[in-house]
Amino acid sequence: MHIRTRFAPSPTGFIHLGNLRSALYPWAFARHNQGDFILRIEDTDVERSTQEAVDVIIEGMAWLGLDLDEGPIYQMQRIDRYRAVVKQMLDAGLAYPCYMSEAELNKLRDQQMANKEKPRYNGQWRPESGKTLPAIPEGVLPVIRFKNPIGGSVIWEDAVKGKIEISNDELDDLVIARPDGTPTYNFCVVVDDLDMNITHVIRGDDHVNNTPRQINIMKALGGTPPVYAHLPTVLNDSGEKMSKRNGAMSVRDYQKAGYLPEAILNYLARLGWSHGDAEIFTKEQFVNWFDLGSLGRSPAQHNPEKLLWLNHQYIQNADPADLAEATKPFAHELGIDTENGPDFVQVVALLKDRANTLIEIAEGAKLFYLPAPVHSSEEIAENIPAEIIPALKDLIEAIQSAEHTKAAYGAAFKEVLAKHQIKMPALAMPVRYALFATTQTPAIDSVLLVIGKNEAVARLSKVV
Ligand code: GLU
Repeated sequence: MHIRTRFAPSPTGFIHLGNLRSALYPWAFARHNQGDFILRIEDTDVERSTQEAVDVIIEGMAWLGLDLDEGPIYQMQRIDRYRAVVKQMLDAGLAYPCYMSEAELNKLRDQQMANKEKPRYNGQWRPESGKTLPAIPEGVLPVIRFKNPIGGSVIWEDAVKGKIEISNDELDDLVIARPDGTPTYNFCVVVDDLDMNITHVIRGDDHVNNTPRQINIMKALGGTPPVYAHLPTVLNDSGEKMSKRNGAMSVRDYQKAGYLPEAILNYLARLGWSHGDAEIFTKEQFVNWFDLGSLGRSPAQHNPEKLLWLNHQYIQNADPADLAEATKPFAHELGIDTENGPDFVQVVALLKDRANTLIEIAEGAKLFYLPAPVHSSEEIAENIPAEIIPALKDLIEAIQSAEHTKAAYGAAFKEVLAKHQIKMPALAMPVRYALFATTQTPAIDSVLLVIGKNEAVARLSKVV
């Protein structure tokens, strides 16, 4: 079987990480099986769909490297096709016009509720042999309803939830087209999944209730239902359903906050799927390992600290040149001219072990690109104890004659410390102050390596 999966978002608002997880799994399943992955934009809710949401989805997927074989396919561009299938179903007697007005439907529902029955359409306009239908009211445009099977049940083996059985008595005759002829949501999904030869539908479990209806329509159309895998929801860190209202961040927000796409992908992969106790893995490993059988059955919970930790792991292990490229936009945002001053790759290499985000690297890098500090003599007197001056002078000399390596600069410090019988902080603090007018910098030998011998000596010479 040639595997075909799809991600079918409705671009009706805020796209959070949990939404993109619903793209990641079908993508991984398609890639694992050398199948096809399709993006279908379910934009028939014209009032709530926005181009902005479509852009966020497409950019977010591209950022994570979820490549497409087909699409984006927009449902709004397939309306003629849906209308044609509605007509085909009417002609085949699989669907029928229903003239029950809104007011009648409401009345029916009120009666059923009063009798403690489940509100459902009563089949008044459903043609049956030997049944006489009411006279067609004048000037009323009908909805089109699907003739749901009567009796029996719909059964499917959900790849996540196991066997699910829903009695047909629970399902009334679904409206597949509105009075103005526009097709309804569940109907479009069925036509698309059939037309696109989708073999596996991997989606959020908020769609479990739609599935038996979709399966019935699909079978009526002569199709074979795909395998369904319904993913448990992603909860936020306080255990609520993720939403913008309770602080969920969009994919774009994570990008802007300096997260690496590799870290986000790894994090999302683990949000409801596992492979033994593997926590950190490459995209290739994920694709190799991915299977529907290892999807979790209970809701996954978003854990921002874990995501930050993963981001740190990815930053720490990244190739400095790649990381520098990824950090540049953040550095430029902070006004750092990465082309003027120390080699940016070296600066990034120096900072990466302690940074959780690209923004933190950029902030740490700032120091190295500021102009040399100008200290007044009062400031020097305040920050550099007079008794340390001889040691500083020796240090300048030791640095000058040292090789330009981290080890050699380290040795220069040691030699001066030993000679003057002082401890590292007593010397390092004044050096940091002289170099940058601050007391906090990465390891001082590495700092010298990055800013360079001449610059270091020039700055130190101004305070002795
Ligand atoms: N458009 C639906 C949603 O965004 C998904 C439909 C489906 O995957 O079948 O929730």
